[in-house]
Amino acid sequence: MNVSVVLFTRDLRVRDNPALSAGCRAGATVPLFVLDDAILSGRSATPNRAAFLAAALAELDGELRAMGTRLVVRRGSVVAEVDRVAEQVGANTVHLAADVSAYSRRRESALRLRLGERGRELRVHESAVMTVAPDAVTPSTGRDHFAVFTPYFRRWQQVHRRAPLSRPTGPALPPIAAGELPLAADICAGEPSPKLSVGGERTGRELLREWLSGPIGQYAARGDDLPADATSHLSPYLHFGCLSAAEILHRTDTDDEGGLAYARQLAWRDFNHQLLAARPEAAWRDYHDRSITWRDDPNAARAWCEGRTGYPIIDAGMRQLRAEGWMPGRARLIAASFLAKTLRVDWRTGAEHFLHWLVDADIANNQLNWQWAAGTGTDTRPNRVLNPLRQAERFDPDGTYVRRWVPEVAHLEGVAAHRPWREKGGVAGYPAPIIDVAGM
Ligand SMILES: Cc1cc2nc3c(=O)[nH]c(=O)nc-3n(C[C@H](O)[C@H](O)[C@H](O)COP(=O)(O)OP(=O)(O)OC[C@H]3O[C@@H](n4cnc5c(N)ncnc54)[C@H](O)[C@@H]3O)c2cc1C
Repeated sequence: MNVSVVLFTRDLRVRDNPALSAGCRAGATVPLFVLDDAILSGRSATPNRAAFLAAALAELDGELRAMGTRLVVRRGSVVAEVDRVAEQVGANTVHLAADVSAYSRRRESALRLRLGERGRELRVHESAVMTVAPDAVTPSTGRDHFAVFTPYFRRWQQVHRRAPLSRPTGPALPPIAAGELPLAADICAGEPSPKLSVGGERTGRELLREWLSGPIGQYAARGDDLPADATSHLSPYLHFGCLSAAEILHRTDTDDEGGLAYARQLAWRDFNHQLLAARPEAAWRDYHDRSITWRDDPNAARAWCEGRTGYPIIDAGMRQLRAEGWMPGRARLIAASFLAKTLRVDWRTGAEHFLHWLVDADIANNQLNWQWAAGTGTDTRPNRVLNPLRQAERFDPDGTYVRRWVPEVAHLEGVAAHRPWREKGGVAGYPAPIIDVAGM
């Protein structure tokens, strides 16, 4: 009998999953997830991501059970556990989704080496994490990646894409102990954010159905409107692969203005991934060396992290981050620009804080958006500085967003909520601005 192992990583779904479909097509299959000690002992293990992951694994197991199989869970070194499971069931092939981070590349090489030593094959499936493989969109100059988004997006729109795969049927599970599905606390100790979204393919598909049924139509007009909260909130489902980016794109009507604007954001995601695939060191090293001298200012960095800068538009975003493990893209951009460009604190400090709290924290998207905001990345106008007050007036014109997240200014009407320092005697319990900006 032909037996294979499908190693889930951040493709935690049964629909449009090229690795799972290939395993099921070939014969009996072990759907395997390894709680990887190397990841769980690092910065990626946070209470928010642990809670989302535990729920996503439970939903994945539910989906697999509906197919007549179940999720097999192990904990330890990913290479040793895959090796052991493959040996136990006599698998000749292991299927894996391709990924782009330095760690995922090392994992892939180590797996290939170990499995090769045992006479087993590692089959790596492209376009499971992105809508297109990184090398499917390359510049005609011969360079190995695009460094500017607009030409990337033009090429990206022309790429031929595979049709989404449906849920495979009838994979037999070879005799093997399934192991326990982990609770969040088994993955990482600590309380998650109180308003964290719930992980999983079923939950993600429900949100996607709702998003595509109407709200997406308003995305071009309202995606940056902070009080409207009119974005998809699908980023954690994309990060963990509870939803397939390729399938979402396939189901998005790009003839519609809202659909096209939304597809463009999915292209930004792919753009960052292709850049990280080509330059894995850009996760922590400046992509463009602009010889910036960062200020060592732990007090300013702490005020920013805690949402106590004295600028309600910054503090609202930073407090939402702690409460939900998520922030709207516009709020991320304003907060990141403020830290890196206004306070001149090294972008890595902010990126680290985001990685800790964001449930969608993603090396490609987080680090490269931080670099964009700091001027060391792919922004073609690296010196632009976003003035927080102008951003506030433009994207939260009535102050509704800041009143929602900063209770100290909740009594201030309209735009007054953006400038509490103008109130006679200030606002009780709320700090004065930690730095001056134009337009105070
Ligand atoms: C400083 C900073 C840090 C960020 N860190 C992350 C991160 O760790 N993980 C993450 O997924 N996104 C990150 N983003 C990108 C973006 O802010 C989030 O993807 C988005 O806000 C998530 O909300 P949504 O799903 O409602 O997005 P929508 O507005 O509905 O967008 C749809 C999808 O497109 C992708 N997307 C949207 N904007 C971007 C972008 N600028 N770059 C790349 N992909 C994008 C996301 O997958 C998102 O789910 C960051 C942006 C900034 C400025």
